[in-house]
Amino acid sequence: MSSYDYDLFVIGGGSGGVRGARVAASLGKKVAIAEEYRYGGTCVIRGCVPKKLFVYASQFHEHFEDAAGFGWTVGESSFDWKKLVAAKDAEIARLEGLYKKGLAGANAEILETRAELVDAHTVRLVKTGQTVTAKTIMIATGGRPNPHVALPGHELCISSNEAFHLEELPKSIVIAGGGYIAVEFANIFHGLGVETTLIYRGAEILSRFDEDLRRGLHEAMVAKGIRILCHDTLQQVSKGEDGLVLETLNNGALQADVVMLALGRDPNTEGLGLEAAGVAVDERGAIIVDDYSRTNVENIYALGDVTNRVQLTPVAIHEAMCFIETEYKNNPTRPDYELIPTAVFSQPEIGTVGLSEEEAGKRYGELEVYRAQFRPLKATLSGRPERMIMKLIVDAASRKVVGAHILGHDAGEMAQLLGITLKAGCTKDDFDRTMALHPTAAEELVTMYAPSYRIRDGQRV
Ligand code: NDP
Repeated sequence: MSSYDYDLFVIGGGSGGVRGARVAASLGKKVAIAEEYRYGGTCVIRGCVPKKLFVYASQFHEHFEDAAGFGWTVGESSFDWKKLVAAKDAEIARLEGLYKKGLAGANAEILETRAELVDAHTVRLVKTGQTVTAKTIMIATGGRPNPHVALPGHELCISSNEAFHLEELPKSIVIAGGGYIAVEFANIFHGLGVETTLIYRGAEILSRFDEDLRRGLHEAMVAKGIRILCHDTLQQVSKGEDGLVLETLNNGALQADVVMLALGRDPNTEGLGLEAAGVAVDERGAIIVDDYSRTNVENIYALGDVTNRVQLTPVAIHEAMCFIETEYKNNPTRPDYELIPTAVFSQPEIGTVGLSEEEAGKRYGELEVYRAQFRPLKATLSGRPERMIMKLIVDAASRKVVGAHILGHDAGEMAQLLGITLKAGCTKDDFDRTMALHPTAAEELVTMYAPSYRIRDGQRV
């Protein structure tokens, strides 16, 4: 019999931790999981899920306008922020309940406390001060918004955490950052009627995406009325007579009711007892792991956003499933990071999988780029000046589609399915011999017969 209290102790009840704990417990392992805030973690409690609910809420204003083109007369409409927050909170509470039910059903012990490492096999439960031991420990404590302490007045700003629980909907907001969170929230707040400014240090928002889509989204957001200030940063935030006053590097002073910082996220490792257990971290405080999510301490694993890999919920879940294979099924399995589909829930949405044109240009000698830009059918009657962009990046030598990028409605849904085709190694010829489904926007993906242009040795020809 094991001399430890548990076979597995999981610290952190987010997507990765809960999956690891639940599956290990269902295999008959004695498992405990500790969470200091709420089960479900960032994704469920204050990330992906409530964000998407807010995205839906923010789109109705355009739906009401579009309805007129289809013969509808929509009466006076108004929006109640508090009602939205309450409805969202109720749904999140339901999901949190499901997470716990899943754990309990698998016989994992659910602990509602912060847990810190005492040594490589011992964990202290902060609420009671009790210590417990485990043969294997999994750290899945996730990340938190970078507070940007170098910014004078940063304490007056909010992060995405607070955006989900604002007492009142502000009249105006400035959002700093040009990544997923900044762009998604800029569209949410604008859609809900808030005067919105985005301020980003680089030349174009969403630095890791295909340039075509970045430009297309930028133009679409500006056309809707979102102010985007590129090549600029916040220098100072202070309290003014009427809200907050912001000094910028290049655009003078701005005013806003709320300033939100979305400048990346930091791994949640502070005070976790990593030193006591001998677990190594990198310069950002992220836990260093090998290809199998194992730390430098043999019985301690780490996965999800607390490690510096890909910060996405499905990736953390996948890492947890690989951990199960490796640790409990005698089948060492490395997480596979190739061809991860991803979406930015902006308006219009971005959905993408594989290499951007720029990245592909560095890797392949010759590329064919198939590109379509068109007005979606719904926009004809609604009169909305909306354009979709679809792009396939094809390696000319192998004919393989190495990147697929969409800007427009349902782009995320399409990217999920394109992920399967790229993962399966489909070639452009496979796309060509697939029957179009008419009338859809997605049919463009199989009807772009001639390349729009070629890239040779990184240069457009
Ligand atoms: P991102 O890494 O996407 O973006 C951070 C942004 O902040 C970038 O624009 C970056 O600029 C900028 N930035 C960083 N440091 C500074 C600084 N010191 N001064 C000025 N600007 C700075 O992070 P997010 O916080 O938006 O999101 C965190 C992660 O969460 C994402 O990487 C993503 O993996 C995940 N996420 C996924 C979503 C989805 O799947 N839809 C939605 C939300 C989050 P630069 O680009 O120039 O470095």
